[in-house]
Order: sequence, then C-alpha cells, then structure tokens
Amino acid sequence: PEALLSVRDLGMTFPGPRGTLRRKAGVRAVDGVTFDVRPGETLGLVGESGCGKSTTGRMLVRLLDPTAGQVSFRGKDITRSSQHELRPLRSRFQMIFQDPFASLNPRQTVQQIISAPLRAQGESKAKIQSEVRDLVQLVGLAPEHLERYPHQFSGGQAQRIGIARALATRPELVIADEPVSALDVSIQAQIVGLMERLQRELGVAYVFIAHDLAVVKHISHRVAVMYLGRIVEIGEKQQVYDNPAHPYTKALLSAVPLPDPIAERTRERIVLLGDPPSPANPPSGCTFHPRCPKAQDICKTEAPLLTIGRSATADRQVACHFPEA
Ligand code: SF4
Ligand code: MG
Repeated sequence: PEALLSVRDLGMTFPGPRGTLRRKAGVRAVDGVTFDVRPGETLGLVGESGCGKSTTGRMLVRLLDPTAGQVSFRGKDITRSSQHELRPLRSRFQMIFQDPFASLNPRQTVQQIISAPLRAQGESKAKIQSEVRDLVQLVGLAPEHLERYPHQFSGGQAQRIGIARALATRPELVIADEPVSALDVSIQAQIVGLMERLQRELGVAYVFIAHDLAVVKHISHRVAVMYLGRIVEIGEKQQVYDNPAHPYTKALLSAVPLPDPIAERTRERIVLLGDPPSPANPPSGCTFHPRCPKAQDICKTEAPLLTIGRSATADRQVACHFPEA
C-alpha cells in the first residue's frame, strides 16, 4: 500500500555547546532516520530518553525543521513547505503530548480546547457543536465535562481531552509522544486501549513514541528501536518481540515483564553497562559498542548500516555487524 508518511535520511543537528570545538560541528540528535508509516497502522518508536525519538516525532509534523533528509505526506514532500503551505495539511496530522496539562490551555474550557482545531478550519457553529459532542463521547468523557477547565480533571482524563482535540479534524496521522508516560500505571492501559479503539473506528495511523517496549507491545503493528539518534532495528511487531536481531533490542526486551510468572522468574535479564552516551560525544564505530555484550573489534571502528541482515527479511532491518540469527 502507498505510504501515508515517508521519512528518508532524516537528520537534526543542533549547534554544539558554546566555546567548544563541537560548536561548529554540532550535535547530531537524529541521524539518517528512514521509515514509512502505512495508512491506519501504528508504528511504535522506542528508545531511552535522549535517543532522539521526540525530536524525530516533532520533525514528522514540522514542529521542528529537519537539518537533513526528507518527510513526505501522501507523496508530497513537506520538508521545506512554508507554514502557510502546511496549513491545509495541518488538519491531517496532529500530535498528542506527554504532559496533558502542559499541552492544554488552563484558561480554556474543554469545549474551547476541543473545538479550536475545528474553528481554525472555519467550520460552522452548528457543525462544531455536534462534532464536539461526538468527540467527548468518543473518548469516554461526559457532556457536562465540556464546561470545565483542565485542572478539574485527573491526568488520564486530561489526556482524553488531548486525544479528542487531536482527533477533532479526523486526521490520518497522529504522532503520540509518550502519551501515557506521565500517567499512573493503572491508567496507562486504559488510554492505550482507547487509542486502539479509536484507530479501529477512525482508521487513524499512529507513530507511538515510548521509552520502553512494554508500552507499545499491544498497540503497535511495527516497531522501530532508536539508539543515539539512529534506528537500530525496525520490523513487524511479532518478529521484533519474538526474535530481536539487535543486541540493544534484546536488552530492552529482557526488561519487559512476562505474563507467565515461571517464565518471568527463569528468564535471562540483560543489564546494559552504563548510561546511554551523550550525542554530543558519540562513541566511534557502532555507537552502541561500549555497552554491547557482543561487541568485537570491528564494532569500534565501523558503523553498521541499517540493512537487511542475515536474520532479517525485507520487512525487518537491523544495524549490527553481528545480528542474532
Ligand atoms: Fe554490538 Fe557490534 Fe552489533 Fe554494535 S555492531 S550492536 S557493537 S555487535
Ligand atoms: Mg521525549
């Protein structure tokens, strides 16, 4: 099927710290990121904090301008479109943020918040009224909530408001940047379940950003794992979870709790050494090598490309010299 969103060699280089040699060379927060999002699917984008996943998410909808590469929406290159040219597309891709309270105007009622994208489109008052009523119901809020303000809601409810706002214009794509990370664990599954149901009902595609693989397991159709600004593995969900090919994916998965308690007690847990290195000072070769249990000499000097490796199919790509078979 035609890709909804095509991302090719996307990059973001921030200026380096002032007064250092890095100032001019810059810090590569995102480097060579390539993937497609298909209509109606969920691509889980996973990695530790600082790996560039939020920066990537923001570039996809041009909240940030990439310094390299290309983003196309339904075949149209939007990488260098002006904000004016983007305006008609704005209703077709939306964003959900990590902190629902920070992303909702505290002085606006729920009615005002959810209707804002519709007003921006110039919809009639009557149409907006009926749409907003549908939307609150769709996300599991009650009509009487419309007159209230964000601070009168719990985190989970506030995120429902953020979701209703994102879906108001019936977008084809929603970038959800850690939409449940700030919520109680007991609420997380409810919100993920809601997003899944809305996808079935509305056919919207998601890029669902998360810092662990457990959160995106149920909702994703495909998963991309990022490390230090690059995708190290991407593939169909079942393949990636059942047979991770990259040592980093394997380590992340070993931290995901298993439903079977016996399997949970006996399984091997891979503990990575140290913290992720700073993108301002990336290790040579494969940037994962200082933490990789499988690293060999070549890993210190040669960066592996994201390719279809021995263990991978056309639908799975891995950036490792020694992928799991
Ligand atoms: Fe580990 Fe080498 Fe593969 Fe990098 S290329 S993930 S260091 S085995
Ligand atoms: Mg982030």
